[in-house]
Amino acid sequence: MKRAIYPGSFDPITFGHLDIIKRASKLCDELIVGVLNNSQKNPLFSTPERVSIIKELTENLDNVKVECFDGLLVDFAKKKDAQVIIRGLRAVTDFENEIQLAQSNKVQYPELETLFMTTSLQYSYLSSTVAKEFASYGGDISPFVPAEIIPLIEAKLKNKEN
Ligand code: ADP
Repeated sequence: MKRAIYPGSFDPITFGHLDIIKRASKLCDELIVGVLNNSQKNPLFSTPERVSIIKELTENLDNVKVECFDGLLVDFAKKKDAQVIIRGLRAVTDFENEIQLAQSNKVQYPELETLFMTTSLQYSYLSSTVAKEFASYGGDISPFVPAEIIPLIEAKLKNKEN
């Protein structure tokens, strides 16, 4: 059983993340989307909200599970008996951070492999931050995130203003 984890904040999930989830799910028996419980980062969506959004958007993918985790990714991987971590790479700017993370995780848990998937060209500019930034100025975010979560993002941003 090859079990992989795709960890991230997913605040909110974008078409770039969903593209990686679909492609990665074809490479393993089970893919766990690991939603980082990062309350100190002051996320737009709570962890349970992010988990439930991703569950809904991936319900057609049979081997994809969505779970949240706290603390170290290596501990979560050990607990889940996962052998592979999937990360997305958009540009060289991602590389420095990612290689450092992957190598530190390897030191901590040598059996764990990190696989990098290159973003699909049409999403290489896309990040959760870009989606939130455009939404906060009333921009059209339909190219960035699935239509069903646009009203949720708008409502959250409105709440933040008040
Ligand atoms: P983190 O806070 O861990 O960077 P993110 O939710 O921003 O979490 O991203 C999770 C993973 O998805 C990271 O590996 C990131 O590089 C990747 N990713 C984000 N946006 C895209 C995209 N547009 N295309 C491909 N991979 C992406």
